[in-house]
Amino acid sequence: MSNGAVTPDGRSVASSRLIRLSRARLAVFDPEGAREMAMAAAVEPALRAEALSITAMCRRLRDDYVAALAEAQDAAALARADGNSAIEGRARSEIARVLLATGDTSAALDESLAALTLAETSGDLEAVIPALATAANVFLVMQQLDLVLELCERGAETARLVGDDLAEGVMLDIGGCALSALAFAARAAGDEKAALSTAADAAQRFRAAMLNAGRLGHRRYEAAAVANLAEVLGFAGRTDEAMELLNSWAIDLRRDSTFTITHHLDTRGQILQSLEQYDRAIEVFTEALERAESKSAMMTAASHLAEAYEKNGNPTAALAAFKRYHELYCQVASETAQRNARVAAVRMETAQAKATAEQERLRADGLLRASEEDPLTGLANRRRLDGELAAAASGHPVALIDVDHFKLVNDQFSHLVGDEVLRRLAVLLREGCRSDDVAARYGGEEFAILFRDLREPEALMVAERIRRTVEQYPWDTVAADLKVTVSIGVASGPDRLAVADRRLYAAKNSGRNRVIGRRPEEAPGRAA
Ligand code: GH3
Ligand code: MG
Ligand code: MG
Repeated sequence: MSNGAVTPDGRSVASSRLIRLSRARLAVFDPEGAREMAMAAAVEPALRAEALSITAMCRRLRDDYVAALAEAQDAAALARADGNSAIEGRARSEIARVLLATGDTSAALDESLAALTLAETSGDLEAVIPALATAANVFLVMQQLDLVLELCERGAETARLVGDDLAEGVMLDIGGCALSALAFAARAAGDEKAALSTAADAAQRFRAAMLNAGRLGHRRYEAAAVANLAEVLGFAGRTDEAMELLNSWAIDLRRDSTFTITHHLDTRGQILQSLEQYDRAIEVFTEALERAESKSAMMTAASHLAEAYEKNGNPTAALAAFKRYHELYCQVASETAQRNARVAAVRMETAQAKATAEQERLRADGLLRASEEDPLTGLANRRRLDGELAAAASGHPVALIDVDHFKLVNDQFSHLVGDEVLRRLAVLLREGCRSDDVAARYGGEEFAILFRDLREPEALMVAERIRRTVEQYPWDTVAADLKVTVSIGVASGPDRLAVADRRLYAAKNSGRNRVIGRRPEEAPGRAA
């Protein structure tokens, strides 16, 4: 039965379920299973973009960056064509991840900010979470640690709102990394007290992230939290604890990604080094350097290797490792300088773009209002009324209201008095109908009301009430001896405006100061 069922947005229930199951596979770190299900869902056009953004992620988690980038870009283009900003945000967040993993931080920054804007405008909180996590990761690489902590807080809050435990754990881990970096900075600045207390905060976050990922069965996140926790414990001098922790979590060369493997090797090497077990540290760093795929992972391994050789009394090998590090450093340094300049520019651009967008919006609002409003009375103008009429069902009745002998008002009292009469009439009309109805100045001394909630007989009663209110209004407050009345024609149906106009003329011809609607013989169901 359910195979043929379709959701309100045109997706088959079966395929939508595949997408959900696919995300559930990712949550237990099963990229292969997730990929299979997403590919099955991708045959349905409405789900193709979303499915591709998932398969892209699966590729990245297996370090297949080229294919991941291509799939994420296809997903983004499809989502843009569909006008689906939530999925476009997810896809571009994935693009940013790939760029970050391949060391193109500047492009990753651009993509992650675009992804965040798209996700936020979509209003889909679940799509905002990966965008926040990606942006936080980019800023972490850029050492903008205050921003990382801010984004993590927002991310954790959003994750709690939608009940996404896994994402909440990820935010803990990223925040821990920022605190860890701050602890290193404090030690470098000679503030050992701050270094240790910040390291303790970081350890607390990593431990919570580790337990969370373990509970949810997410191997990659658990591995990352374990290595991070071990590193910060080592930093705080708690090396035995750190070693024990690393030993309790065995790397699986077949299952774990290069990122996870080099991360664990490097952490292990650092702890061995702080335990002065240099031979073993050298072995581990050498393996990390061989396995590393990203420039930053290679640099870390090379510099740690150089240090370990040096401490082990092998300056020649230390120099070779350092040369390797220096080569990589030169490549990355020019990229870093360009990237930092870009950060400042992007920050200014986003601030400026926001201000400009706000100004544009206000200006557009003002123009729109001006273009649809009658300046004398503040009522809707004819242009607005025509738009509303075109949009409203023909069952909504219209009243056309024309001032009786208005020419005489102008002639006997003055044009200024005439204008004041029009203004006061506008107030009476607005007060005489509901806020949902459209009261408009149709032209000169002619007004119209489009009734939204009434059928024609009730509209006729409202029109009659308005006629009486105008007649009884104390017009002598405008000018001594001034009297004002109106004639009104009411109609509904496809030609309501023309019919109302005919009835208005009938009202004028039959003596003015009256309302004419459908005559009894015009009522539907009766013979003409
Ligand atoms: P009737 O009862 O048949 O409608 O007579 P009338 O005098 O109201 O009709 P007519 O169409 O001959 O005259 C309308 C007048 O409304 C003519 C015009 O000068 C005046 N008028 C139109 N717009 C304005 C305005 O904005 N301000 C003022 N003061 N007068 C206006
Ligand atoms: Mg007129
Ligand atoms: Mg008139």
